[in-house]
Amino acid sequence: MDRDENLFVMKIMNLNSSKHAIIRLFNVTMRYGAKLALNDVSVDIQPGEFIFISGPSGAGKSTLLKVLYLAEKVSEGQILINGMNLARISPAKLPLLRRRFGMVFQDFKLIPGRTVFENVALVLEVSGEKPSYIRKKVMHVLRTTGMEKKANALPLTLSGGEQQRVAVARAVVGDPDIILADEPTGSLDQASAKLVLDFLMAYHQKGATILLASHNLHLLESMVRGRNIVLDQGQLVKTSTLL
Ligand code: ADP
Repeated sequence: MDRDENLFVMKIMNLNSSKHAIIRLFNVTMRYGAKLALNDVSVDIQPGEFIFISGPSGAGKSTLLKVLYLAEKVSEGQILINGMNLARISPAKLPLLRRRFGMVFQDFKLIPGRTVFENVALVLEVSGEKPSYIRKKVMHVLRTTGMEKKANALPLTLSGGEQQRVAVARAVVGDPDIILADEPTGSLDQASAKLVLDFLMAYHQKGATILLASHNLHLLESMVRGRNIVLDQGQLVKTSTLL
């Protein structure tokens, strides 16, 4: 193959990967004042991938997740979700896009004054589902995370591991195709961390794309398989596969 043919083949391969990528970042830079939280990050993520975002504290992991679910707007660069440019999305389409994401945080972010059932149900209430469907669906996901017996409990009466299982139930109850998890095991003991990771893996095996940020890759690499994206000082410094 001569050089032109080579370039042509590479172009076709790129087109194919862009056609299939569920998330594409092009030269994404995020500045907080003079601080570069993300520095020229480009990456394609295929549907159904399990992606670890690792790197030391302050590397830009949370920021990367935040720009994906539109909690922050990038300073430069473009993000496409299924070919949809986040910078150009109309406000009317935003709720629809947000529903594609399920989020899990290190500090759970459950509403303290609402029961476990109500915390999980809220996602479906906001999207206008019928009460009979909500009851059935919420109890189903609480059963799969082993939390159905605590449906009427308030979050603060639960252990950290239990709260995170509720948060994971809330993240998946709307059947999102992308889960963004920011240090989801960061405040859990090893046994609780394993339950949460096992559940995320099971959801991944049903076809979801998962992006999980953690500074503690050691804990995770023995439990899950996927692609590891390493950030350092806002830059993507390495990509590897965890087998
Ligand atoms: P990580 O999740 O890898 O610990 P972050 O994405 O939270 O890193 O932060 C990346 C960098 O951006 C850090 O230097 C952090 O201090 C800075 N940063 C994050 N959020 C803000 C903010 N809201 N204002 C100012 N600086 C921020």
